[in-house]
Amino acid sequence: METILLLANSEADGSLSRSALETLGAAKALAAGMPGSKLLVGLVGQTVQAAANRIAACGAQTFLGVEGADFVASRYASDAAAAEAIAKAAQATVILAPAASRWNRVLPGVAQRLGGRADTHITGLSAGGGKLSVNRWYYRQRMEGTLQRTQRPWVILIDPGSQPAWQGEAGTATVQNMPLVLPESCKRTTVVGVREPAADAQTIRPDADLLLVAGAGWTKKQADGQAHAKEAEALILGCLKAARASLGSSKSLVDLGGEGQAVLSFLTHLNQIGQTGSTPRHPKGLATCCHGEEPHTVGWRFINERRAVNLDPNCGWARGKADVLYVADAFAVMARVNALLS
Ligand SMILES: Cc1cc2nc3c(=O)[nH]c(=O)nc-3n(C[C@H](O)[C@H](O)[C@H](O)COP(=O)(O)OP(=O)(O)OC[C@H]3O[C@@H](n4cnc5c(N)ncnc54)[C@H](O)[C@@H]3O)c2cc1C
Repeated sequence: METILLLANSEADGSLSRSALETLGAAKALAAGMPGSKLLVGLVGQTVQAAANRIAACGAQTFLGVEGADFVASRYASDAAAAEAIAKAAQATVILAPAASRWNRVLPGVAQRLGGRADTHITGLSAGGGKLSVNRWYYRQRMEGTLQRTQRPWVILIDPGSQPAWQGEAGTATVQNMPLVLPESCKRTTVVGVREPAADAQTIRPDADLLLVAGAGWTKKQADGQAHAKEAEALILGCLKAARASLGSSKSLVDLGGEGQAVLSFLTHLNQIGQTGSTPRHPKGLATCCHGEEPHTVGWRFINERRAVNLDPNCGWARGKADVLYVADAFAVMARVNALLS
């Protein structure tokens, strides 16, 4: 019999993130698949009551909270202390948390303190025969493994976007607040502020419905013998803005930027999709001016519906990599798409 703890943090406005609700969905499904198991919720943040109320109807037996000014910002020492205290109070054997940056960096250390084990980037959970198994991908998303562990507590970090979010009604939850006085040594790190790009400079949106990929073709000489990098920038930004899409890139295009060549000013290596880049999850993807070679398309594993625009009917997308290939000039296509979107 497992005691399952959902561990999450409340956001600055007191709400719960989508990844926290997805992890709750996974925890609920797991508890339902393991008769006799218990589900508890542990929340950390400035205040946790509003977050607990949001998921009051989730069926958790107990809501535990660690709150206060010390727990607003992501900080290893205070987050680890809070997670450890909650896990011990809950006597949790399985701890589920969103694999977002805050918990990814803290919970493996907490597992060590608790004498348990941690697994990150988990994309599936099952409870066949009452035995808990988890799934994760290895070797840059080429192989999927299923594993079980006997060691407890087992800390499991769930990849955002891999689970349906819990969708129950809000209510009023009774939260057992745990007073946690941090030793001075935990406060050696103080968070003085957050530096982040302006909202309109943010091109990576993990929650977007569409991934728009830009390839090196956008910077190549076109039919008139000239390159049109500025026009390319305007078309790509226009689509990102109108469709609230996330921007991906081929390696060739971001590498050109690193060499100081005139390319899209807002691209960085963080946008790179593929074998040596990222493997994002989006319902739809549109590749433009990108050849669709295997080291790039391997990063499209979790894109459900794939389309590409390329002048070359023999490009990689035509070889089973895309559901639809438009053999067309991406400059013309994106200008029309943007006009329709606006
Ligand atoms: C070990 C290794 C790891 C790698 N990892 C990655 C990785 O993680 N991610 C990655 O992306 N690549 C990776 N690569 C590189 C990869 O193999 C390709 O070289 C790269 O993806 C090519 O980028 P591209 O398609 O943008 O450029 P190109 O190959 O130059 O293709 C440009 C395309 O644009 C088209 N085009 C030009 N003008 C237009 C227009 N007006 N309209 C429509 N189409 C147009 C052309 O027809 C062409 O197909 C890796 C390679 C190696 C060896």
